[in-house]
Amino acid sequence: MPGIDFDRLRREITMEEVLHLVGFQPCQTSGDQWYGGCPLHGSTADRARHFSVNVASHRYYCHKCRSHGNQLELWVAYIQKPLHPAMLDLCHALGREIPWI
Ligand SMILES: [Zn+2]
Repeated sequence: MPGIDFDRLRREITMEEVLHLVGFQPCQTSGDQWYGGCPLHGSTADRARHFSVNVASHRYYCHKCRSHGNQLELWVAYIQKPLHPAMLDLCHALGREIPWI
């Protein structure tokens, strides 16, 4: 199987796009820093805000399940697949062409 240009995906796919796909709803925002319930470990409490994400630097961190990383790693953690098939799914979900190497 040909390789995927992960660097290009990291540059072109935004944290907001991934947050939208995983159904994240911020309950508080402070500039580029957003807080809310964690889409990964299934916290659905209305006022939960242990999931912290910076949409400018594309980094997230959950204070409960300790998951953290960039926007692509958030998607991998969310759909629980290896990186390669996870990125194919992500491109498909966003209607983008896959950047084959
Ligand atoms: Zn979590």
